[in-house]
Amino acid sequence: MVTFRADLLSDTLTRPTDGMRAAMAAAEVGDDVFGEDPTVRDLEEHVAGLLGHEAGLFTPTGSLANQLGLRLHVAPGQELLADSGAHVVRAELGAAATFSGITSRTWTADRGRLDPADPLRLAAIGVGPYQVETTLIVVENTHNFGGGTIQPLDSIRELRARASALGVALHLDGARLWNAHVATGVPLEDYGREFDTVSVCLSKGLGAPIGSVLVGSAERLAEARVWRKRYGAGMRQVGILAAAGRYALDHHIERLADDHARARRFADSVAELGLGLIDPGSVETNIAMVDVTAAGRTPGEVSAALAERSVRAYPVDSSRLRFVWHLDVDDAATDHAIEAVREVLA
Ligand SMILES: *Cc1c(COP(=O)(O)O)cnc(C)c1O
Repeated sequence: MVTFRADLLSDTLTRPTDGMRAAMAAAEVGDDVFGEDPTVRDLEEHVAGLLGHEAGLFTPTGSLANQLGLRLHVAPGQELLADSGAHVVRAELGAAATFSGITSRTWTADRGRLDPADPLRLAAIGVGPYQVETTLIVVENTHNFGGGTIQPLDSIRELRARASALGVALHLDGARLWNAHVATGVPLEDYGREFDTVSVCLSKGLGAPIGSVLVGSAERLAEARVWRKRYGAGMRQVGILAAAGRYALDHHIERLADDHARARRFADSVAELGLGLIDPGSVETNIAMVDVTAAGRTPGEVSAALAERSVRAYPVDSSRLRFVWHLDVDDAATDHAIEAVREVLA
């Protein structure tokens, strides 16, 4: 396996810490399909409580947690609305259409930032047998392909009020909601309660090896549990995995501030090159997007040159490289990445 001095490809690269492994080894387990794994139940209740919801459901991936959430709100032949960079429409490989017969329509959002007017303009309500009916709007917070963008609580609240008046449900893809919470100080519950369902990820910057949780009402989550089993994701003694998630929640949320500070320091240093590669103000959490076309280069070229200097970043589209901070990237690795970008781009 190739290892990098600064591996900023993704915040999914984290490896379980010794403390996390000890918690996993000590976990009490049972058969979760029968609802008898106490560690899984504890995790589900804990996350539901953090987000101000009645019930939770542990899933192996964030994509599954999202897809279970979407299908609770949208029947086959109906539609959801999401921004064109949203994970549910770009990175879940057409799952909503493939598994649930869901149509998706999108709007474009600069850096993924939510403007409630955008989905509300598209929403089709009471359009009878002539057009596709909108039943769900999806919000992503923070926004991954937008570069870790935080959705303002005021915008979310406005969307909630106006969508409710139309009878349209809201799902939050909160894979990195922890980062928004730490960066803004807004309580998780304040974000959570504006949505009918919320998915959160334990295996990104929080550092668990696997796992997401979907939360919502007890009634909706009972239905999601049926669909999880139908999709083949009923799991047995997975308290060993839920224990890693619980450990992450208890120990790794506050430290996300370190990731944010390092991402910002990186952005400030790259901006000092004076080439217009990045606006440091755009780095709100743990993700920095560098527009390498500003230096007349392509993301592919630059990622190859960085790899030779033991730095890994993700070519996210035709102009940008994405750098993501996480549990396994320290100050020294950040310094190394800054130096490598200087050598390659300056
Ligand atoms: C990572 C991620 C997910 C979940 O991805 P999985 O790889 O399926 O766990 C969902 N939404 C966003 C925004 C993500 O970044």
